[in-house]
Amino acid sequence: MTDRLSLGDFLEKELLDETCDLLSRLIQNKCVNPPGDEIKSIKTISDHLKKYGIEAKIYESNPSRGNLVAKISGSDKNHPGLIFGPSHVDVVPVTKPEEWQVDPFSGELKDNHIWGRGAFDMLFMVATQVQAFIQLKKEGFQPKGDLILFIVADEETGGKFGAKWMLDNHPEEVGLYNKEMFAVTESGGIPFAPNRMIFLHGEKGSMWTCLKFKGTPGHGSYPYGSDNAILKSSEAALKLTDYCDNKMPVDTQYIRNLIKGVGINFILRKLITNKFTLPYMLKILKKTDPQMATVMHSLTRMTISPNVIKGGSKTNIIPAEVLLNLDVRTLPGQDFEYVKFHIRRALGSLADEVEINQLLEEGFFVEGTVSPPESLFVDAMNEAVQKEFPDSKLVPMLSMGGTDARFYRMKNVEAYGFALYDPELKLGEIFSMSHGIDEKIGLKTIDLSLKVFYNLAKGFLV
Ligand SMILES: [Zn+2]
Repeated sequence: MTDRLSLGDFLEKELLDETCDLLSRLIQNKCVNPPGDEIKSIKTISDHLKKYGIEAKIYESNPSRGNLVAKISGSDKNHPGLIFGPSHVDVVPVTKPEEWQVDPFSGELKDNHIWGRGAFDMLFMVATQVQAFIQLKKEGFQPKGDLILFIVADEETGGKFGAKWMLDNHPEEVGLYNKEMFAVTESGGIPFAPNRMIFLHGEKGSMWTCLKFKGTPGHGSYPYGSDNAILKSSEAALKLTDYCDNKMPVDTQYIRNLIKGVGINFILRKLITNKFTLPYMLKILKKTDPQMATVMHSLTRMTISPNVIKGGSKTNIIPAEVLLNLDVRTLPGQDFEYVKFHIRRALGSLADEVEINQLLEEGFFVEGTVSPPESLFVDAMNEAVQKEFPDSKLVPMLSMGGTDARFYRMKNVEAYGFALYDPELKLGEIFSMSHGIDEKIGLKTIDLSLKVFYNLAKGFLV
């Protein structure tokens, strides 16, 4: 058996065509969440697997919300296993279809890309993982560790009917048993610097918080010395921002590998990764490379962004209550006590006038999660990438946003964002694609991801 995807050109093309066809059908199924209706795509995948004699199990968490599991059992009970997924088939809504160059649910092939909502996030990964699984099965692949294909509903609104539900209700079906398992899902293998690709080994927590300020109502025509809740909340917003930028404790462990990966010189590297010199470096970076400054800022601390303010009822009434909503993003290990402590410190004397509450009803309230940036499994991911690009290396990074990987990490299963993007793509180009207008994915990325999943399974499971 070959140790990489070295099929003849014709077969390789046939495999790519089939993957693209599956991807187009998943886009056309229009599993917009809410409401999701993911069962359409789950059935499409199940029928597709059936053509190759693969019986997948479908688990419905709610009418029309389906999840799918297929498995190739390993021969050695002690060998670690691999999970393709949790990979989600739901997509976010399209708000301005008229601004798209194509019908957002056409799944059409144009300019060497498959276009449509979900093409990038993350239906191309679903299609390539399904197809890599089929290819392995077709070849009679006999792994030592289990290979599980795990496709889910409901990532875009929090996983309640998808990955979380499956891990809570059918843990043994999706790899939560007494042996080491590793999951690969969105997003990784993203070109970042020459011969360097990012993979995600963790994600920041998201702890949306509401500050409630009280004032004393009065007439707007006598404002002198008034106890105005809007003034307090405005002062709070300024204080929180200043604290976040200049006084928040800094932890540079999550940027060390990243900085090394960019290949910048030793002295600069030391200055950026030292918590005492980082603030000055951020100020310089803000002028020379503002995007990089933003990333370095976010990856080194808990961030607070005051984004919604609600209060006041009439222009001539001094407001008695104002709500200020904060988007708080924590590093792994920082909990709500940590959040409250730093908000109070930032507010100083204003802290006595505020009620701090979790914004459970609106946001996702989750702690950050992290898997080791270095391990035998990470080596296996590197090897899978190096089969395509021998001089390349993966660089670990934390994600600012949440993915279903966190549900595995919370259950002590290591999970990574991993695929393989066209190395010609620019980082900005890739990130602007997610949830945007004209979402699309290049054939080159589809081809490389298909190969990297196939190679990872063959390298790691034997
Ligand atoms: Zn996604």
